Amino acid sequence: MDREPLTAGRQRGGREAAWAPRRRPKRKKPGLTPRFYGALGLAGLFLLVLVIALAARGCGSSGSPGRAAAEDLSAAELYRMKVNEMGMVMVLEYHVIGPEDRWSRSPDNFRKDLETLYEEGYRCVSLRDYVTNNIAVEAGCTPVILTFDDSTVSQFRYLEQDGKLIIDPDCAVGIMEDFSRRHPDFGMTATFYVLPSMFGQPEYAEMKLRYLMEHGYDIGNHTVSHTALSKLTPEKAVQEIAGNIQEVRKYLPGYEEHSIALPLGEKPQDPAVLASGEYGGVSYRFLASLLVGSDPAPAPNDLKFDPMNLPRVQALALAHKEGSVGSEAWMEFFRKNPECRYRSDGDPSTVTVPRHMLPRMNMDSLGDRKLRTY
Ligand SMILES: [Zn+2]
Repeated sequence: MDREPLTAGRQRGGREAAWAPRRRPKRKKPGLTPRFYGALGLAGLFLLVLVIALAARGCGSSGSPGRAAAEDLSAAELYRMKVNEMGMVMVLEYHVIGPEDRWSRSPDNFRKDLETLYEEGYRCVSLRDYVTNNIAVEAGCTPVILTFDDSTVSQFRYLEQDGKLIIDPDCAVGIMEDFSRRHPDFGMTATFYVLPSMFGQPEYAEMKLRYLMEHGYDIGNHTVSHTALSKLTPEKAVQEIAGNIQEVRKYLPGYEEHSIALPLGEKPQDPAVLASGEYGGVSYRFLASLLVGSDPAPAPNDLKFDPMNLPRVQALALAHKEGSVGSEAWMEFFRKNPECRYRSDGDPSTVTVPRHMLPRMNMDSLGDRKLRTY
């Protein structure tokens, strides 16, 4: 049997696999033996099993990509796809991309993280779209948010090669851009919480920030001096935050940051300074404030959703020596408890939740959206 459908299904993800069995069977040629048909049947069975496995694994497994409305999905499909727009969302937290360590993820493990997320039906959304409840991923998919703190050179490095400047294929941006080319439907994006060091290599600082902005990434606030905000007066805290915006605007005039990652996860004495402030002619208004650890975050429709105290999941191996619970452990948790994952109904104008989740739902989050339960 022609192997092409298998290859195509694997390369393009579970969604494509759905068309494979619909292929018109090849016309039977006269003179072929029963043994040939037996083999054909076995191969067909294998293909069917593979297609079902691929479809069950990923998102969009209803086989109708681009469906317009959640109402098109039957209750049985919602149940099978475990659609749950009250499920948990991982905001992944990366620092250094280098030798694997407590605050460092190896390039290969970062690649593996992206592959695993993609294969298991996660799709990237921006932090801003998540906190504003504007999650537009395909039906059955789970949103995931990527964040990077401290703007180390390991996150974005230029190299000179044969007289040309290239992005280091082993830095975070190099890895993400490569992955995005191979999997455009992953929706690659991330927020970089920068310090004035701006990814090292001062000669390329502007080029890097411009590159990020023009390629769909966001820049966020991580203060000027990385001091714990809890140790500063509210006035000093505002200076730290506004000062970071000034640093970014040296390279990107007028750039608006929408969120802050708290240095060391320490909250300021007056939490109001995170929502808005003004210093030295710079004013800001933030939608979200990110903590350092260590759990998945609630869905924006959840009563517990608190964008100004947003937990993150650190990108870590399963059993780290310090015993932290990181991304690999949480991925495993969601494999064992798939009903806990946020899974989209594929329609941003409808919020679909299992009926038993309703008591935990914040009805104000609905806005103009329609509610569907099953
Ligand atoms: Zn930091």
